[in-house]
Amino acid sequence: MGRDRGRNLKKLCVFCGSSEGRNKKWIKLANELGEGLADRGWGLVYGGASIGIMGALADACLAKDGKVWGVIPKAILNKELGHSGLEELYVVDDMHQRKQKMYDLSDIFLALPGGLGTLDELFEILTWHQLGFHKKPIYLLNSDGFYDGIVEHVGVMCQEGFVREEHKNILQIVSNVSEVFSILNRVE
Ligand code: AMP
Repeated sequence: MGRDRGRNLKKLCVFCGSSEGRNKKWIKLANELGEGLADRGWGLVYGGASIGIMGALADACLAKDGKVWGVIPKAILNKELGHSGLEELYVVDDMHQRKQKMYDLSDIFLALPGGLGTLDELFEILTWHQLGFHKKPIYLLNSDGFYDGIVEHVGVMCQEGFVREEHKNILQIVSNVSEVFSILNRVE
């Protein structure tokens, strides 16, 4: 069944940096993902900023006539320069509401390179899954080994008996954008 451009559109939620990173390859990665989502008729949900690779991701998707929803707390609307060209920019009261709203809007989650905020968002959605609150898939884009340390440490936590084997696999690792698109293509 073809996807329409409205309510039934499948949406990928992307957590990523509000910075651009030192290497231009991270912006390129965000561009590739944003364009590919638009090409494939997938909606994008993200943190609503117009800065960093967050902004690049949204711009790339919009440039290809993609649909983008942003969720931003009012306290950082100016700091992260809330994006003005989105399908809808939800301005919420706090960080908790941001994560809840991003969760509600989305079918699948993906973390791109980012900083502490990106990790916070990723781990919150992982722990909700671990606690049985949802079953939505969660992916980590470990491009060029950016997240090798995190992947390794989750392994250590598992080995040391702090993360159960079945919970370790809640975090699914992909290494490039093509793999992300293959996964999206398989979603009913
Ligand atoms: P960063 O990876 O630190 O550049 O942050 C990426 C995004 O995560 C930014 O939009 C931050 O505002 C956001 N962020 C940081 N901390 C939190 C939090 N506790 N809850 C929700 N979003 C957050």
